[in-house]
This record gives sequence, structure tokens and C-alpha cells, in this order.
Amino acid sequence: MPAKRPGLVSFLACKCPKCGNGRVFNSGLISFKFADTRYACPLCNFSFEPETGFFYGAMYFSYALIVGLIITCSIIFYATGMFDYAIVGIPTIIVILVPVIFRYSRMMMLYIVYPLVYKDKFYGKN
Ligand SMILES: [Zn+2]
Repeated sequence: MPAKRPGLVSFLACKCPKCGNGRVFNSGLISFKFADTRYACPLCNFSFEPETGFFYGAMYFSYALIVGLIITCSIIFYATGMFDYAIVGIPTIIVILVPVIFRYSRMMMLYIVYPLVYKDKFYGKN
């Protein structure tokens, strides 16, 4: 039986999907090095990249997040009667949120795809 996994709090805090305490990224969210992902958990030594190119899959999650963001922003701009500004406002919001979208798409890869596709590596002894 798989052990209890870290939950939503660890996911939102960008912590290790195995132990729930080790940080996945080296620097803070507001930094030019926001994309600097660690190779392994500093606490439990769990490898964040089971094979080369694992994080390419994060592109699909980032696409989904951006589409959801565009739909949500369009509704908000329309509902507030400022839809004429949406052509400038929505790309601006997306560019500002690039670090957030990048990080959480990688976290989705670690929390959703990793345990499903790499069961042996995730539930085994590292
Ligand atoms: Zn860990």
C-alpha cells in the first residue's frame, strides 16, 4: 500500500511530493531565477526528474492554465463593462503571472503525472 502523500498545502507551497517538506525550487517566486528547479529533494533525496525531459509535459498543464486564465479574465472584463481593454489587459495579466503558471505546471507534473506514470520510482525506495 502506498504511504500517505502530502496534500494541497504542500502542493501550493511548492514542496516535495514525497515527503512534503523539501523545497522543489531553489529561489523565491519573485526572482529572475524563478525557474531554477532542484534535481532532488534536499531532505529525502527524492529525484524530481525520473527521466530526461520529464518537465516537457508541464507545457500541457501550462497551456490548460493559460486557457483557463483567458476565459476567466474575459468573463471578468465583460462583466465589469471593460471588455474593450481585454486585448491589452489579458496578455498583461498572463505575462505578470508567468512565474506562477510555470511553477504550478511543474508542480502538477510532480503531483499528478509522476505517481501515475512512474509508480515504481515514486512509491519505491527512491
Ligand atoms: Zn522530499
